[in-house]
Amino acid sequence: MSNSGGGDRSADRGPDRGVARRGLMLVLSSPSGAGKTTISRALLEGDGNLTLSISVTTREKRPSEKDGVDYHFIDRAQFDAMAKAGDLLEHAEVFDNGYGTPRADVERALAAGRDVLFDIDWQGTQQLGEKMRDDLVSVFILPPSTEELERRLHSRAQDSDETVRARMATAADEMSHWREYDYIIVNRDIGESVRQARSILEAERLKRDRQVGLRNFVERLRRPQ
Ligand code: 5GP
Repeated sequence: MSNSGGGDRSADRGPDRGVARRGLMLVLSSPSGAGKTTISRALLEGDGNLTLSISVTTREKRPSEKDGVDYHFIDRAQFDAMAKAGDLLEHAEVFDNGYGTPRADVERALAAGRDVLFDIDWQGTQQLGEKMRDDLVSVFILPPSTEELERRLHSRAQDSDETVRARMATAADEMSHWREYDYIIVNRDIGESVRQARSILEAERLKRDRQVGLRNFVERLRRPQ
């Protein structure tokens, strides 16, 4: 992937004009209501090199959601067809609905040196890990307590009581997967959690192996003027 010639400097530069870098895949997972969506939004704001992977889902749209912004809302037949055609990088059933990551947008972004943020569950994270471990940085977000998780789910007030109950019941299951993640954030304070998530992203961007333009950059630094 690295550029072995010495002449073409632009090839050593990334979209942010620093040393060229391979894009990374930043996954945030948590039980519903732990604050993942708020953290994702904060990360995306003011970070021009991070783009959100917009999943497809067969679930009903919530009143506050927009098609093509929060999800691409599709029906089961479309979902099954995409899965069968290999158009989904990963897919899983969550609360009886299909969720999946469209492959093309992610591959395009990574190839251009952009980082991609994923709000997906542990099943999807496992699948990405099997296929693209070197590009994956995974973060699990835990709520500070069960009471707080329930309170947050109720205060969201977009789901029925029955849905909230179902989500509480599966939260314990989801949290059992914390060991499969690279980083764990306990979301006690949203500002602090956002700072922690930003630090993870910043450090991971600096990993030597991701900075594919380094070899040529250092060679030029060492060349006598
Ligand atoms: P919600 O219905 O609350 O938006 O999401 C339910 C769960 O599905 C969340 O844990 C969310 O992270 C997960 N999810 C959303 N999109 C995807 C996806 O594309 N793939 C997988 N595996 N999980 C997803």
